[in-house]
Amino acid sequence: MVEQVSSVFDTILVLDFGSQYSHLITRRLREFNIYAEMLPCTQKISELSWKPKGVILSGGPYSVYEEGAPHVDHAVFELGVPILGICYGMQELAWINGKQVARGEKREYGPATLNVVDQDSPLFVGVNHSRVWMSHGDKLHGLPTGYKVIATSDNSPFCGIAHESKFIYGIQFHPEVTHSTLGKIVLKNFAVDICHARQNWTMENFIDTEIQRIRQLVGPTAEVIGAVSGGVDSTVASKLMTEAIGDRFHALLVDNGVLRLNEAAIVKQTLCDGLGINLTVVDASDEFLDKLKGVTDPEKKRKIIGNTFIHVFEREAAKIKPKDGKEIEFLLQGTLYPDVIESISFKGPSQTIKTHHNVGGLLEDMKLKLIEPLRELFKDEVRHLGELLGIPHDLVWRHPFPGPGIAIRVLGEVTRSQVEIARKADHIYIEEIKKAGLYNKISQAFACLLPVKSVGVMGDQRTYEQVIALRAIETSDFMTADWFPFDHDFLKKVASRIVNEVDGVARVTYDITSKPPATVEWE
Ligand code: GLN
Repeated sequence: MVEQVSSVFDTILVLDFGSQYSHLITRRLREFNIYAEMLPCTQKISELSWKPKGVILSGGPYSVYEEGAPHVDHAVFELGVPILGICYGMQELAWINGKQVARGEKREYGPATLNVVDQDSPLFVGVNHSRVWMSHGDKLHGLPTGYKVIATSDNSPFCGIAHESKFIYGIQFHPEVTHSTLGKIVLKNFAVDICHARQNWTMENFIDTEIQRIRQLVGPTAEVIGAVSGGVDSTVASKLMTEAIGDRFHALLVDNGVLRLNEAAIVKQTLCDGLGINLTVVDASDEFLDKLKGVTDPEKKRKIIGNTFIHVFEREAAKIKPKDGKEIEFLLQGTLYPDVIESISFKGPSQTIKTHHNVGGLLEDMKLKLIEPLRELFKDEVRHLGELLGIPHDLVWRHPFPGPGIAIRVLGEVTRSQVEIARKADHIYIEEIKKAGLYNKISQAFACLLPVKSVGVMGDQRTYEQVIALRAIETSDFMTADWFPFDHDFLKKVASRIVNEVDGVARVTYDITSKPPATVEWE
């Protein structure tokens, strides 16, 4: 049997009751090199194939006393490991032990000061009088049997409670949000000092265990195929596969005609020559551009590119014949932990759990088994892993690039000549951003070609050419974003270079809309 990451590393299990912050608990613990994994609160403990070192019950939008509110599997208390309830999680502990939870007189949302009353409590070492973040309407109005109060706040007489002999703790505040200034120390105290979890979750250790895991999963002869895009996730996943099984991994780059300037050649050089990945590049640009002829609707463009990709990938993959004469058995996918979280987070008592597929269509048709070596990792962990695997720094820190590529950055009809204009303008823009040392300060930057013409004058001649819009945003999560405040000289230089060096452009504008109301991409 192939071992899971959670059986190799000491793992804290986070049971998610649907709080918007649940994944942050996992995130914070990993910052202390403690591996943590989130599962929905409906998880049956008997169905876990590994034993956690400790369990955290998250917050949630429900009230424990409501009909239909989610409740934890009581078997969690028989595991004999420490438990920490956060907000709803603490209310759940109290509800199970005497039902002393009810609606409070007032909601408490925002900062409060933690007042530690039990100075000996291992949970609160080093955090007394720090600011903590509250977000609740329900309250404990009594102490559950066997528990004592270990902390209070102005509004919460039961801000922290503990059942010391069973190592069960409850806190009303949210230690996982950064507004709780020392909240991560509370989580670390719980995981390290109370659960005794080893702090060995490092990407150095992960590489070794993951390579072993891939070898076990794939076996001694089977072969694996995967699409690469030139982005960090697919490159890291491919390099890891190559380290594990060498040439039995086949990477496929489909040139869809809407990649960045010289992208196929650059990817070939970096992945094949630089990283030793067994890569095949397929030029399918005519096929994609033919299908895009006359199409101006952004959703249609996306669909055409997605479907054509599946078609081309399947056809080209069928041409790759494993050495043993059998069929390829596995499909590599660069799924990351946020996608996994999205598919398993608890969205309501009646929710059915969806699985996440980037390329679901491929799996159904090709009867391939899925292999996802990055599914336990957050993006910054993938980047760190990439650096360790020797992937060039520029590639590791590359801005995200959409699957439909430049097709959604050429507004209106996508033709070879239009793609060429957008590509060249984008190349100049990114080059200048890098020269100015701004690339890593910006989350995403690109040039768009607008389907309008505008009058200009060049060398005493009237021109009537198109318009390039430049976009650059700063964001931490891509859910909201702000435009980047370039200085005027920078914009002047880029505009001048684009109009001078790219035929077909008469004017350059800078997009100063945030998200919302706009989106990052224009289409
Ligand atoms: N719904 C519960 C309350 O209002 C728990 C809130 C939470 O976990 N953030 O108290």
